[in-house]
Amino acid sequence: MVLLAVHGGAGGDGPWGGPTPMDPPRIACMEALLSDLGPRLAEGSISALEAVRLAVMAMENEPGFNAGIGSVLDESGSVSMDASIMRGEDGAAGAVVGVRRLRHPIEAAHGLLQGGWPLMLCAEGAEDYAVREGMNLIEPEALVTDLRRAQWRKWRDARLHPGATDEDDAALDHDLGDEIDGPGTVGAVALDLQGRLAAATSTGGMTGKPVGRVGDTPVIGAGTWADKRVAVSCTGVGEAYLRACAAHEVGVGMRTAGADLSKVCDHVLDLVEPFGGRGGLIAVSADGQVVLPFRVTLMYRGLWKDGTVSTAIGPDP
Ligand code: ASP
Repeated sequence: MVLLAVHGGAGGDGPWGGPTPMDPPRIACMEALLSDLGPRLAEGSISALEAVRLAVMAMENEPGFNAGIGSVLDESGSVSMDASIMRGEDGAAGAVVGVRRLRHPIEAAHGLLQGGWPLMLCAEGAEDYAVREGMNLIEPEALVTDLRRAQWRKWRDARLHPGATDEDDAALDHDLGDEIDGPGTVGAVALDLQGRLAAATSTGGMTGKPVGRVGDTPVIGAGTWADKRVAVSCTGVGEAYLRACAAHEVGVGMRTAGADLSKVCDHVLDLVEPFGGRGGLIAVSADGQVVLPFRVTLMYRGLWKDGTVSTAIGPDP
């Protein structure tokens, strides 16, 4: 059994209004990467780790997602991105925090995983590392799209207290209005032919986040987790996922023999909720279970399973 699941962010309150004109490229991106990587995973030409790295890179390339190009803007109107990746069989991991000049933050996180030490680098230190590893730096402006500039202006004009860190005040980028909608974070989880698992997550964070704010995405055990039983990537209000150690809690739940992944993930979303958490997660287990639950209006999501690609945005039918 080989599985690849992806998400492109979750958010919103109330009923789903159906796809927006901005959704087709997002769906096309997920379908294209799943159609490309799924068969390669099935024939054994890429590992679970490669699959999640490549899946996240493809979504970092799609301006409609909040990762890489198209990342949301912080309080100062700049992009700063976080990413992490983890390999289940040995617990190797890598993460970058607050990078501004990397086209693909997940590539730098993957480099750290391969290198073995250190696990996490931030800001210029991460960018310098990426250069030493042969990655090119880009101008921060090259990552900023018109949509994100418009969202940021709307956020700025609506806010009385820019920089507030209260969770109730922190706006998921999806919540800023129908006419300027924008989905979030991207992530991928995979199970390969050898039964190995991996997870990866990448984000620009939240519109208007205070400069220097770090969410769950780059924190192993909060936004990303993979071990020998399960791989998890989360999306939602990062502070709540951090406080719940959400992704790791899925790993803890799956330690019981015969555990039901769906029940375990529901329980973890229950843990996140009291901390002001709204969002979802995707998870695959070594015994072939896969779930993509969310507790908000929508979660961009896609799955490659048994040779078939499926994608969705709103609630399951
Ligand atoms: N979890 C991300 C963060 O808090 C945001 C998201 O998933 O939409 O930075």
